[in-house]
Amino acid sequence: MKNNEWLVPDYFKKFSCKTDKCRSTCCSRWRIPVSKAAYERIITADCSDELSKRISLGFKEPEIISEERYRLIDFNWLGECQLYQDGLCLLHKEKGEQFIPEICRLFPRSYKRINDQNMAICSNACERTVELIYDSENLNLTKTELNTSANNISTVSQEDVEMILKFQKIFSDKTNSLSHNIEKVCLLVNEEAFKHDSLQADDPIQMAIEVLETLVNRFSILSDYAETVINRYRNNEVLYRRDCVAFEERFPDWMRFFENLINNSMMYENFPFVDSRFDKTDAYKGLCATYGLLRFLCVGYTSQHPLKEDLIDVCAALFHLVDHSPFYYNINVIVKYPALLLKL
Ligand code: SF4
Repeated sequence: MKNNEWLVPDYFKKFSCKTDKCRSTCCSRWRIPVSKAAYERIITADCSDELSKRISLGFKEPEIISEERYRLIDFNWLGECQLYQDGLCLLHKEKGEQFIPEICRLFPRSYKRINDQNMAICSNACERTVELIYDSENLNLTKTELNTSANNISTVSQEDVEMILKFQKIFSDKTNSLSHNIEKVCLLVNEEAFKHDSLQADDPIQMAIEVLETLVNRFSILSDYAETVINRYRNNEVLYRRDCVAFEERFPDWMRFFENLINNSMMYENFPFVDSRFDKTDAYKGLCATYGLLRFLCVGYTSQHPLKEDLIDVCAALFHLVDHSPFYYNINVIVKYPALLLKL
């Protein structure tokens, strides 16, 4: 393998940031951690008075400070990064790309080393990534040459690689429905627990509402979408099932789109090895919740906001939660039988 040879999905090569055209910029409402080295570089920068004033307002201490999580980017009253103006980062504009924190420079890209193969992928939390996936038949991983300045490259173990290859094989079988393929993945991860969950009698619609109510209290990016959907389906299963039919007619390729999103997120998260705080055999719960909430939110939100852009926005908001918060851990704590969310 050459050092600059990377395995990437087709969309990766087409990605470029939408800057001021982005409807939900990642420079807004994100608690982005900044390393000690980047923070010290920025606060001692030789820069204009305007930038210097913004830098002094732009960071706050996290509850637990570490070298890598030394400060968090703070917001102005609009919920935007203090250094953001009209679709551009003022720090980037004045001092150049290499000066900004690595996380800002690389987002939404993530770089991994799998065996002796480099792999690069983008997060579904970026609306441009979701747009590109919407327009793709499949993820189609191919080798390409990249020159990246990424320092933070995660390593995937041999055990993880073997699981990832098995999941890819399951998703490549297009004769099954998406929920059926996810079920097969869950059975591989934890057959006994998944089967036990699936036999329970809880109502998946009520369960989805309870999960959203708990999550949106903590993650405001999802709240507008979640409130629309919660209000529409509380105690109204008939309306939800009717909206499902309308959704599938409006977006006939929904299953391929969801499958590519979920598969992309699994690779981004190194599923099922997502969070060292819990047993990886519980990771199937987060996967079921990802599918269930994706369908529930998309069906409900696009029943009121039916454009392709609306679908893209609600998907990106959900994956902000899935890819960039302790989603798998939280689901494990707050939902008893998430396998039932596959029935949505
Ligand atoms: S979310 Fe994506 S397209 Fe939008 S500003 Fe961020 S990187 Fe650019």
